[in-house]
Formats: sequence, structure tokens, C-alpha cells
Amino acid sequence: MIRTINNGSSCAALLLRCTSGSSWFVNITSRHKHSSYDVAIVGGGIVGLATARELVLRHPTLSFAVLEKEKELAVHQSGHNSGVIHSGIYYTPGSLKARLCVRGATLAYDYLEKKGLPYKRCGKLIVAVEREEIPRLNALYERGLKNNVRDLSIVDAKGIREREPYCRGLMALDSPYTGIVDWRLVSLTYAKDFQEAGGTVTTEFEANDIAMVTESPADSTDGLKFPIAIRSSKGEEVHCRYVLTCGGLYSDRLSQMSGCSPEPRIVPFRGDYLVLKPEKHYLVKGNIYPVPDPRFPFLGVHFTPRMDGSVWLGPNAVLAFKREGYRVFDFNARDFADAMSFRGLQKLVLKHVVFGMGEMYRGVFIQAQVKILQKYIPELTFSDVLRGPAGVRAQALDRDGNLVDDFVFDGGVGEVASRVLHVRNAPSPAATSSLAIAEMIANEVESRFSL
Ligand SMILES: Cc1cc2nc3c(=O)[nH]c(=O)nc-3n(C[C@H](O)[C@H](O)[C@H](O)COP(=O)(O)OP(=O)(O)OC[C@H]3O[C@@H](n4cnc5c(N)ncnc54)[C@H](O)[C@@H]3O)c2cc1C
Repeated sequence: MIRTINNGSSCAALLLRCTSGSSWFVNITSRHKHSSYDVAIVGGGIVGLATARELVLRHPTLSFAVLEKEKELAVHQSGHNSGVIHSGIYYTPGSLKARLCVRGATLAYDYLEKKGLPYKRCGKLIVAVEREEIPRLNALYERGLKNNVRDLSIVDAKGIREREPYCRGLMALDSPYTGIVDWRLVSLTYAKDFQEAGGTVTTEFEANDIAMVTESPADSTDGLKFPIAIRSSKGEEVHCRYVLTCGGLYSDRLSQMSGCSPEPRIVPFRGDYLVLKPEKHYLVKGNIYPVPDPRFPFLGVHFTPRMDGSVWLGPNAVLAFKREGYRVFDFNARDFADAMSFRGLQKLVLKHVVFGMGEMYRGVFIQAQVKILQKYIPELTFSDVLRGPAGVRAQALDRDGNLVDDFVFDGGVGEVASRVLHVRNAPSPAATSSLAIAEMIANEVESRFSL
């Protein structure tokens, strides 16, 4: 259980309670006029928090702050996802995604054990239901082996039934190393580690300008030791030597704000989930995924058990008219105009018009979504499901309409830009990979900024 307690002063505390019964507080500084840090990390999602934690653990004598625009941490992608600990099957061998996912999953399991956080290694089947999917399933198996994914095997129809009695298919890739966890709880635990090691978390601080300081603040004894000013939308300032941004759905705007490239651009894709009614939970034991269609970037709608015992089905992928907009009719004029005027999105829409219309149709008429899911669990009926929550993916896109598949980290040149490192693209499985991403970014921060 997670709830927020406001103690009425300038600090708030998050009370985390895991199912094992232990609980602890994460203190959050929510207001201050200005402060100075060696490194400020903008964005309190799982990537920002994991990296902040790694940096302060490596450099206990330096000062670090996480600046988050929301009142609470990890409420966007890190708090709205499928909750899967991926094993690293899908990704191009040698890519950052492949390497960081495989290492990240191992680090995540070790971390969860060490911290006593609840998780389940409930496994996953990627199921081929049509003959033509079998070569692609075999190719996935080969890819998984190349990526050093643990314990993979191919099972036949009987093997599928032994693992998932209600699932039907011709052949499946069995990944027992795949698990589930509450990634928001993990994010908050990173925040707690960060604070215990001396880091500062400041919420309700929306960075909207990153610039050089021209003169030192009147009450400062440090002169221009902290030459970068991050200004919030409320006029507050944080000074620092270096900046790392981990802004998720706003990563392109943060990059632009610091004089770095606006591309790749972020286009928000909403994913709606259905939930299984409690009396039907017995239909699903572990994760059941389709064989992904290589023409599309998403993994396809899947069955995912959750840590609270519920079962989610989905998500689909529809263009959202608002970044961080979780409801069908959420709309933001700037986000909409930004997306629609971007050549890359126009090209993408033309390329995938049929797929896009299909996803929208299945989002509205859930019978159509259930029909797809029935290929895997024929016993499932329309009356077994309810509309559930949604998440919004930060999908990076180049100007030619290509989806940027791998993680992207970059900076720039110039007074401000050379002191900033941006996490530009951290799509799924960035939650699984978070501790490995943190190691990599910390290495990059150390070498770029000579920490
Ligand atoms: C539907 C869905 C399902 C997914 N399923 C999985 C899964 O099963 N397993 C997995 O490993 N991964 C999954 N992912 C991917 C994973 O959740 C994300 O890759 C990961 O959470 C990204 O973390 P982040 O910190 O980069 O972004 P976020 O969690 O979005 O955090 C970014 C933070 O930056 C803050 N911010 C933005 N702009 C500013 C600003 N100007 N000033 C201050 N703060 C700012 C935001 O408020 C936010 O808190 C899924 C994602 C989605 C959307």
C-alpha cells in the first residue's frame, strides 16, 4: 500500500508499506527558494530515481537533488505500466535495450530480494496461435539465446496446457525468468535509498527554464560555483553544476529548453487495459503474450497478472491528444498541435493508418479486443472483462516517421548544453532495466562532467 502523508509543514512524507508488513518514510522537500547542488536530476520517475540513487551512492561527498513537477514521485509511466520484469527476449542482440534489460532484470531481482519487496517470478509464455507465427517464434527463441536470457525453452501445445491450463496455442516460448512487480513501489524505494544517502527530493518543481547564472545570488558564499540555474514555473530557482534530465513524456521539451536538439520528438501513445472480473482470475496464471508483429513497435495485447491479484489485459496503442492524458477525451492544445505539425508523425500515420484505425476501433468496442484475446483463452467472454486503467507511452520518433527503438542519451554543445545530459528515450523495458540504465548513465555523467 502506498499513501501520501502531508505533515503540514514544508515537507511531505510518503509512507510505503509492502505486503511483508514493513513500512518506512520517504521525506520530500516540497518548497524552497533556491538551493545549490553538484548535480540536479529533473524527473522523478524510475529512471531519474534509479540514477540519482546510483550517483549519490558512488559520490557521497557530492550533493544531488531530484526535481519533480508532480506532488508525488513516479506517477506517470513508472506508475502506469504492466508491471512486468522482462527477461530480454525481444531486443536486437547487442543493442542497449537487450544488454540493459538482461542485466537490469538480474539487478532488479537481487534488489527486490535485498529490500524484501514483493514480487512474483510467475513466468511468461509467448504463444503462437497461427502456423505462420511459428518461424517468428523460433526466431525470437534464437534472439533470446543470443541475448543470454535465462532458462528459455520452446514448448508444444501440451506444454502450454501444463503451464496455462486455459491457454490454447500451437507452440510457445516459455520464459520462467519473467516476473511481475509494482514498479512504482520500486521507484519509491530508490527514492528512499537516495535520501538516506544524503540526496534531496523536491516535488512540485516543474523545470521550465535551464540557463547560465549571470551573477551569484545575493546570499551566496559560493560565487559562481554552481553556474546553471533551473527555474520552475512558479519562479523558484535551483542552482547546480550539472543537470541530468529524465523527463519521460517531456524529454524532448527539456532538451529543447537547454539548447539541445528537439529531436527525436516524443509522441504520446495511450494504452488502455481491460481487467478480468475477479471470478475469472483462475483463467490466467502467468504472463501470456502474443508473437509480436515485427511491423509494429509494441508487444501486442497480453494477459498480465498483477501483484494485487488482479489480471490486466492489454494495452492497446492509440495516439493520445495529451501527454500524460490517461482518459480517452483528454486533450491539450499544445500537445495536439505539436504532434500534428510534426512531419515524423504525419509520415507514421500514413504508414500505419490501418493498424491505427484498428487500435482505435478495439479501444472503443471492447468486444473486438476480447475477440483477439479469445485466440489465446477461448473460454474468455465479453462479460468476463471490464474497462481498466491506462498508461501513456513516451514514443520517440524521428522526422522520417521512424520509431526510435533503442534507449537514447545525449547532450549538446554550448555553455548550458555541455553541462546537461538528457535521457531522450527510455521506453519499455526501462523499468526492468532501471538499475542497469542507472549504472550506464552514472558512468556517462562521471566521464562527461569529470565528477
Ligand atoms: C503502458 C505501459 C506499459 C509498460 N510496461 C512495462 C513493463 O511491464 N515493464 C517494463 O520494464 N517497462 C514497462 N513500461 C515502460 C516503463 O514504464 C517506462 O519505460 C519507464 O517507467 C520510464 O521511466 P521514466 O523515469 O523515464 O519516465 P516517467 O516515469 O514518465 O518519469 C518522468 C518524470 O519526469 C517528470 N517531469 C517531466 N517533465 C518535467 C519537468 N519539466 N520538471 C520536473 N519534472 C518533470 C514527470 O512528471 C515524471 O514523473 C511500460 C510503459 C507503459 C506506458
